[in-house]
Amino acid sequence: MSAIKGGFSHVPERISGIVDLADNLWWSWHPEARMLFKVLDRVAWKLSVHNPIKMLNNLGKEILDAAARDQKFLRYYDAVMARFKEEMITGVGWFHDNIAAPRNMSIAYFSAEYGLHHSLPFYAGGLGFLAGDFLKECSDLDVPLVGVGFMYPEGYIRQRMTHDGWQIGTEEPMERENAPISRVLDEKGARLTVKVPFIEPPVYVEVWRVLVGRVSLYLIDTDTEANDPWNRAISARLYIGNPEQRLRQEIVLGIGGAAVLRALGLKPSVLHLNEGHPAFAVLERIRERTESGMEYGEAFEQVRTTTVFTTHTPVPAGHDVFPFSMVEKYFNSYWPSMGLSRDDFLELGMNPGDPRPGFNMTAFALKTSGYRNGVSRRHGDVSRRMWQSLWPGLPEDRIPIDYITNGIHVPTWIEPKIHLLFNNHLGPYWLAEHDNPDLWQPVKDIPDEEIWRTHYRLKVKLIDAIRDRARRMWVDEAPDPRIVLASGVMLDPNALTLGFARRFATYKRATMIFHNIERLKRMLQDRWRPVQIIFAGKAHPDDDPGKRILQRVFNAAKSPSFFGRIAFVEDYDEQLAQYLVHGVDLWLNNPLPPFEACGTSGMKASLNGVPNLSILDGWWIEGFNGKNGWGFDTKEGPDRDLVDSEAVYEILDKKVLPTYFNVDDNGIPRDWVKIMKEAMVSVGPLFSARRMAKEYIGKFYQNALKSALV
Ligand SMILES: *Cc1c(COP(=O)(O)O)cnc(C)c1O
Repeated sequence: MSAIKGGFSHVPERISGIVDLADNLWWSWHPEARMLFKVLDRVAWKLSVHNPIKMLNNLGKEILDAAARDQKFLRYYDAVMARFKEEMITGVGWFHDNIAAPRNMSIAYFSAEYGLHHSLPFYAGGLGFLAGDFLKECSDLDVPLVGVGFMYPEGYIRQRMTHDGWQIGTEEPMERENAPISRVLDEKGARLTVKVPFIEPPVYVEVWRVLVGRVSLYLIDTDTEANDPWNRAISARLYIGNPEQRLRQEIVLGIGGAAVLRALGLKPSVLHLNEGHPAFAVLERIRERTESGMEYGEAFEQVRTTTVFTTHTPVPAGHDVFPFSMVEKYFNSYWPSMGLSRDDFLELGMNPGDPRPGFNMTAFALKTSGYRNGVSRRHGDVSRRMWQSLWPGLPEDRIPIDYITNGIHVPTWIEPKIHLLFNNHLGPYWLAEHDNPDLWQPVKDIPDEEIWRTHYRLKVKLIDAIRDRARRMWVDEAPDPRIVLASGVMLDPNALTLGFARRFATYKRATMIFHNIERLKRMLQDRWRPVQIIFAGKAHPDDDPGKRILQRVFNAAKSPSFFGRIAFVEDYDEQLAQYLVHGVDLWLNNPLPPFEACGTSGMKASLNGVPNLSILDGWWIEGFNGKNGWGFDTKEGPDRDLVDSEAVYEILDKKVLPTYFNVDDNGIPRDWVKIMKEAMVSVGPLFSARRMAKEYIGKFYQNALKSALV
């Protein structure tokens, strides 16, 4: 079966490989490949918002022809293409050197979101970036894995703010021809169409493929003429509010996804469920076995011992629970096909610890998988407590839910200038073994001047980018001038710059820093030690409390009483996240414990020498070492917000400001730079997706692959 990227006949034969390069996200985490597109045409690269498919689509033939005759360009092109080809060879990397698994074995990874690049808006937040970073790391380690997810034609919302600070989500259809996706075709060259088994009325799906280095990600699309309108809309966008449509979405992702893999001729030995949304995939794996004559009990055991489930949600309300009647409506012909009774089937989704009746997707996933984990040490503890009732009689510490702390894909999140700095001081091979902490020690010997100068340039770059957005908004839309001011035109590269960017869910407590307004104002208007805060983030379209928090932040940014030192930047996405985690001075995080299962943006900041000031929750309990930033722990109580905000002010006043503004004769804050270095060295290797992927492989995949052999 093939997937075709058409429409590039204007690219000359000599450099036609550049289309393959643009069509594989491998380019996005290899600076030399990014540079190739940039040198081809700087302006077009910028205008395409760093989207090479779009750039090649729009580039004139004469520019491409000239490049194909330019010897200097061709030498560079050949070098990049050679590296690309070499890294696309499978069966030769780390996984194959270290893991004894037959060559035809593979892992299928299912997730409702993937955060890979801003040109593919298939993510809402951290869950998606975890999945995207994991696929990239699996490509680097040559793990035989395929991804399954949704092609959301409308993506996630784009965020616009009204003049009074209310978020309006606008849907902007994705331009498929300008995205690094290809339609999967069948043997006859027609669009591959798969019917979701046993679901009435029938739902059909088409399939797209995204290449993530050596890993293929298959995306399901219900927007096909074969479907009635209600079915067409199943994959329209992420996280639909209507419960029945949401159930249908999860059926299509799990059961449809498994059927798609079958249609592609793929027979994964192991299934990894990223969160409960795709958990129905286990049913297809069981049904495949009972259909070929196996007893249900044996089929269930075979599937269970080859299934991995990662839970991400530390609150009961965050888990999908569907009414039994709704589940019955869609599954009443499904359970007989596996040889199950109605009661036995519904039992699989029951959670004895929850008084609300219903089919709980997380309980279902926990019962049907043999390997289960939370996403940080604390989240492992929380999950064991939360799901204790599924294993009656077992003490809490024996509940079989392990933890693997999330990590970030280092080549994706390290800023190119910092990457270069490391190449110069750690040797060119540091990236190849970047999960080895010893390799990072020489960072401490990099001259303070170099670190500080690089950081300052990145801060200026961030502020330039924010001002550029504001300028475009002013020109394109001529909004109320106060909105333009609120979006960051007054930002000052010499102020201590705090970054607060994440989803505007209420538990993230974005307005905590406003708890004592007078104290905050004093800090912001200090002439000698100025402070400024940059906010960004979207509220979920159905989350009005989240939108009200966002409104408060936006109105503060607009209000003259904060001296132009608060900015809110619209439409937080992967690209803005990159600018922020590279360019602010301090990453602020104060969610209400224990709601932050892990958190990853603070890791991205630390990697680039931006220390965290964070409450001790999620990953920071493991990450904070007393020297790499600041942490505070508080107790539960009625005045929690007050107590926690006091802790933040105290740390800022007594620790952060004196350190940051204590500069020597050369203008370098030596003690601050020491903290920056410590942040890089302590977080870079241990909170990498490489460390994480190796843990999934060592703890889970290896054993599951063995079970698959039996
Ligand atoms: C990393 C990232 C997230 C997740 O960050 P958290 O710290 O887990 O909230 C969300 N959105 C974007 C755009 C990101 O890059």
